[in-house]
Amino acid sequence: MTRFSDMLDGYSRFKSNDWQEQRDRWEILGEGQSPKVMVIACSDSRVDPTQIFDTRPGEIFVVRNVAALVPPYETTPGLHGVSAALEFAVQFLKVEEILVMGHGLCGGCKAALTKAMADTELGHGGFVANWISLLDEAQERVADIYGTDSVEAERAMEMEAVKVSLANLRSFPYVQEKENAGALMLHGAVFSISDGDLHVLDEASGAFNAMR
Ligand SMILES: [Zn+2]
Repeated sequence: MTRFSDMLDGYSRFKSNDWQEQRDRWEILGEGQSPKVMVIACSDSRVDPTQIFDTRPGEIFVVRNVAALVPPYETTPGLHGVSAALEFAVQFLKVEEILVMGHGLCGGCKAALTKAMADTELGHGGFVANWISLLDEAQERVADIYGTDSVEAERAMEMEAVKVSLANLRSFPYVQEKENAGALMLHGAVFSISDGDLHVLDEASGAFNAMR
């Protein structure tokens, strides 16, 4: 298993190989970033968007959190990390597309589905439970059809979570404005860890279609 000391070895390789080879690129990046796409993904160690989409530094602006969730637009004072990143990406970097990427075998979605961490204390699952309560309504929809204890239910929860985040993105006034004006496109997808397939959401039908 990789430890920090291994990561420092990795850094040495990066600095002497990759970084050297892309010296010109890093020089340009030193002047600023202008990514066109924002990606919201899960913190899960297996679903790194830069790897899955084979992108280079400076190309995608990424936020990762438990279950790849976007909270709704809230005006209450608070420490709104995702909202801050969204605001920066859309209003300052002027990204033109946002992808919400969920994934298979998502522990956060599973906890939302089973409510395994509900009513736990802060530090013992409480923060996770509070965060994934964003999926409570979706959980009811999924549980009504699939129950809470099957692979089908887990997959449905993972797909519903992406749809919830897209709906929440549209609750931000500037996101809705820009989308209506054709200046911002929203996308949803689920990456399957077990087979490497990417399923992209067709919002018109609500279906997630496997990419070839
Ligand atoms: Zn996850």
